[in-house]
Amino acid sequence: MPRLHFAIAAEASASGARAATFETRHGQVLTPVFMPVGTQATVKCQTVDTLRDSGSTVLLANTYHLMLRPGAGVFQQFGGIHRFMNWDQPVLTDSGGYQIFSLPHARTMDEKGALFQSYIDGRWFLLSPETSIGMQKAIGSDIMMALDQCIPSTADRSLAEAAMELTHRWAVRSLVARGDSPQALFGIVQGAAFADLRARSAAAITSLPFDGFAVGGLAVGETKEQREDLTAAATALLPRDRPRYLMGVGTPVDILEAVHRGVDMFDCIIPTSLAQRGTAYTSQGRLHMRRGFYRLQDQPLDPACGCPTCRSYTRAYVHHLIKAEETLGWHLLGQHNLYFYHRMMREIRDSVLAGSFLAYYGEKREAWARVDGDDAEARHPKSRQTRRMLLGDYEVLTAPQGYSSIRQCSSGEVMHAVSNPVEEARLLYIEQSRLDARMRAGGAETLVVWDVGLGAATNAMAAVRCMEQALAAHGSGPLRPLHIVSFERDLDPLRLAIRHAARFPHLHHAAPSAMLRHAHWEHASGLLRWTLLEGDFMERMALAPRPDLIFYDPFSFKTDGPLWLPETFARIFRVLSGGQTAFYTYSTSTAVRAALLWAGFHVARGVPIGPKTETTVACTQPASLQVAGCPAAPSLLDRQWLERWERSGAKFPAGLSPDEQDAFASRIRAHPQFSLSRAVEPQQSRSTKHWLLAFVAT
Ligand SMILES: [Zn+2]
Repeated sequence: MPRLHFAIAAEASASGARAATFETRHGQVLTPVFMPVGTQATVKCQTVDTLRDSGSTVLLANTYHLMLRPGAGVFQQFGGIHRFMNWDQPVLTDSGGYQIFSLPHARTMDEKGALFQSYIDGRWFLLSPETSIGMQKAIGSDIMMALDQCIPSTADRSLAEAAMELTHRWAVRSLVARGDSPQALFGIVQGAAFADLRARSAAAITSLPFDGFAVGGLAVGETKEQREDLTAAATALLPRDRPRYLMGVGTPVDILEAVHRGVDMFDCIIPTSLAQRGTAYTSQGRLHMRRGFYRLQDQPLDPACGCPTCRSYTRAYVHHLIKAEETLGWHLLGQHNLYFYHRMMREIRDSVLAGSFLAYYGEKREAWARVDGDDAEARHPKSRQTRRMLLGDYEVLTAPQGYSSIRQCSSGEVMHAVSNPVEEARLLYIEQSRLDARMRAGGAETLVVWDVGLGAATNAMAAVRCMEQALAAHGSGPLRPLHIVSFERDLDPLRLAIRHAARFPHLHHAAPSAMLRHAHWEHASGLLRWTLLEGDFMERMALAPRPDLIFYDPFSFKTDGPLWLPETFARIFRVLSGGQTAFYTYSTSTAVRAALLWAGFHVARGVPIGPKTETTVACTQPASLQVAGCPAAPSLLDRQWLERWERSGAKFPAGLSPDEQDAFASRIRAHPQFSLSRAVEPQQSRSTKHWLLAFVAT
């Protein structure tokens, strides 16, 4: 008896993407569809009304949790989950297998099923194909899932094969247990990362009369590329005329990639779990609303968003709620994030119907890669089992090569991600800026270094050591005084690194602890001072003396977006007000370089670091990069770079209108740096002068 009447409305050409509909007992579903996760018969901090306002049409509920509490009897009493939670649209229930198999110590397993003890009251339960279906019938979901044995996709072959065979036997038992219930039932293809096992599993499962098929066992340990390949291989083996569901996936870009590979249905905790950590998905990147940067911002989370949160509340208010740990903050951010996901799914569907999916895919892929990041932590919140060295939002990571770094848990971002932090600090900031030669050049005027993003004090301590070595080698006589000014809004990374100082040799020094206690440290020679300005860099920079050098090392665009925007660089340029300053950063992004040029800086290619073939150097005037007695300064980006920029997909900052894009492009093209490298015609010098005047006026 066909239950879902799945019908394909359109298929994209040269892509697996498709738009379809299916019917459930609680209404029609348009695919591709994203299903918010309602673990305990509620989506975290949302009501059914706010879910509908966000665009939710199908919810996922967890059989395991509902089996333990409130239990099958309550659902039977209320006639199912729809009336119980006041949701009249479709519900999909998982089988409970995923949760059981992630509890390695609390169960015993055999052919019959998994015996486990409730974490709530210690009672014993058997989860078998029959009891799982029994519970899902009591819940009364529209779509049930067959019980499968989940194993990590990185499992070895014999384990993967045994789990797959068991899953096939359980699939048959699940169908028998379903009987003539009108509820739909999906089968799950397993086989870990082995292509031949996946093929065997697909053949076995699709030979059974399921109403749809899920690709199981992905998103539990493999890389993004493997996951995409496995998804493509798996969907190719599934029948065209049934819905395809990729369980537990994922970030916006994961979903886009999977739609491209033929998947119709998704669920994931990310939109609501990130909301609880204060993170908002926006058209311009992820915002971390805990940041003081948003304290006074009188604008919505995302000006391009029409969700109830963005229509009614400011960033300042959401920031306040998140800082105060008010549940309304989680509600508002959750609603916004769900809206972001559902809008994306509608856009995907519309583009498939309009025959323009591939264009949409190409355009959004790049933008969303920036929005997403690879947030492994959000994807597997409970999968980390090693004992972690943690403080606040940070943890210590140790590379196989032996050096340690600090990682921000909420963003997944690692400070100095690509190489040994101490080595990177020395090459990128100390040697490249010729700090040693600049100090040895002598003179009474203090050399000021801005250390933007103190982090674990790696860059600042590299500067301290450089000065101390110069003092040891030359005495105080000919040296120019050095003042390091560090900017940092969160001192937890430094506290954490000091707590585990055995792993951070650069901190074996009196200065870092003094910084935490007094925000200031001075060398006995009187020639070296180090000051900490705690708070937002944008607010604090006006308090600092004008710098000769800037070591610009905040988190990347996806985490600290505002620090990489053209307006930010323009504000820095204004504060430098005509002095000679050299600016060093690890980023090589075309967008960052364009933003620096737009702001008025000259921009050059910096030294390679680890696997990066170059970094970026900027300056207020080319002379700022020249140091007496040192080899030639780095070469400025030339007209070839300009031509590449003209063709780039990331040519403009997000959110510019066509007029603003024109103005932005004119300003880059007219930058004196590019007119220097060719014969200067009268007209061009006029426009250059005009540009400079216009810039000074802003
Ligand atoms: Zn919004």
